[in-house]
Amino acid sequence: MTKKQHGSNSAAREVSNSNEQSGSRSRTDGPDALSPSLATVDSPPPAETGASRQHPPSSTQPTDMESAPGRPHAFQRASAFSVAQEQLTRVANAMDLDDNMREYLKMPRRELVVHFPVVMDDDSIRIFTGFRVHHNTALGPTKGGIRYHPDVTLDESRALAMWMTWKCALMNLPYGGAKGGVIVNPKELSERELQALTRRYTTEISLFIGPEMDIPAPDVGTNAQVMAWIMDTYSMHRGYSVPAVTTGKPLAVNGSAGREYATGLGITYITRAMLRRRMGLDIEDATVAIQGFGNVGSWTARSMHERGAQIVAVSDVGGAVYDERGLDPRHLKHYAEETGTVAGYPRADTLTNEELLALKVDVLVPAALEGQITGENAHKINARVIAEGANGPTTPEADRILEDKGALIIPDILCNAGGVVVSYFEWVQDLQAFSWDESDIRHQMKRKLLDNLDEVLAITVQTNQDLRTAAYTIAIQRIVDAVKYRGIYP
Ligand code: NAD
Repeated sequence: MTKKQHGSNSAAREVSNSNEQSGSRSRTDGPDALSPSLATVDSPPPAETGASRQHPPSSTQPTDMESAPGRPHAFQRASAFSVAQEQLTRVANAMDLDDNMREYLKMPRRELVVHFPVVMDDDSIRIFTGFRVHHNTALGPTKGGIRYHPDVTLDESRALAMWMTWKCALMNLPYGGAKGGVIVNPKELSERELQALTRRYTTEISLFIGPEMDIPAPDVGTNAQVMAWIMDTYSMHRGYSVPAVTTGKPLAVNGSAGREYATGLGITYITRAMLRRRMGLDIEDATVAIQGFGNVGSWTARSMHERGAQIVAVSDVGGAVYDERGLDPRHLKHYAEETGTVAGYPRADTLTNEELLALKVDVLVPAALEGQITGENAHKINARVIAEGANGPTTPEADRILEDKGALIIPDILCNAGGVVVSYFEWVQDLQAFSWDESDIRHQMKRKLLDNLDEVLAITVQTNQDLRTAAYTIAIQRIVDAVKYRGIYP
């Protein structure tokens, strides 16, 4: 990762606004000095040795998130929140939900916008803008990621918070949904600046977060180190350690075994089950293309590869690589960590991101950002299954086009829920001050995901609905039931 080079002797303090500025297939595991070991689901998990439990991030710099080439600037993008609301309306119609409940679910409960200064390494002061949104609290405190990306908006945070509400309800977790972020490209900051930004943002949103109120986790552009800084800042204000205020922390500071790879492994569990049940296809016979090679994409690639799938293409913001014989995700990850991107990987051919999305594969995993598969490019998709690793990667218009083409979409709130499930386990462990074994965590995560998958499939059989509608129906019904018992205050 390239860190910003900075001169430290600048005398002048300039106030600037960040909003303007920021803009050959093998089933054997290769050597992997940097990544934690990840046993296959059918084999025992790695021994809980001190060494295997220590999973510090290889860098304190967050993962790659530059504004993608070809990605429209935030203000030109379709509103993610209107996509989320449209999805809600579609399901509310299918459920015949009453108007009062629609109105209640349609808007977030609380939103906080903060503008805050950070002293940069050259002694200038930059003003950053951040958000935190709580969508719904009927089932418990809110939970959701914090994103550092130049295209973060309040609209996006609202959408992501709403999707988190449905995901937590579908997984039967005692949480509502939240999301937040800062408009920044963290790759442009030094580590000291990143830490200062994180601590000040945490202070600004500290009214909104807490182990019983709202528990942040990593998302695009943030990682375990950022969660540790947030936890430490919150704890300093309280005067004692409050580990349960964030999840996705390093193991050394009350993180949970298994959290780093949970989202990717969960995607693999769900996709493998769906391939078997809906396509009669074993994952070891499946070809897979993955858009995005950060936390979610890289762990999905690795866990699918370890179960025999052929990962033929992978992309990140720098471009895409392709090998019809299958890529080795561990080797590719080493390369991306060294160079900052998968683009240029010497053991593969080059593709554009558009070409990757159009590949004829069994499974396409969008694992980058929302709004990637739209009415404009959905007709070019040739995958049989779209396993949504990212939140909100497919617009409602694209849903309809893909459905007409006979593609199966495994919706985000089911497909990528492994991360929040293990985040929940981390929160419980922190509240109890008692750590669970990695094997228990993997077992419990798998059970929760597959039990909820069974419920979703049962609804699709009963009602002939698509998976997204069925998953949303279960989630919304759980919230409606809670609201009916709790009532509307006062
Ligand atoms: P990350 O920052 O670790 O990785 C994002 C990846 O996407 C990077 O490789 C980046 O280069 C790539 N990318 C960005 N724009 C792209 C584009 N236009 N084309 C191709 N690649 C592009 O983020 P992450 O944590 O892996 O999150 C990815 C997605 O998964 C987000 O939608 C996030 O909300 C969702 N998600 C994350 C988690 C989690 O546990 N981290 C859990 C559930 C859902």
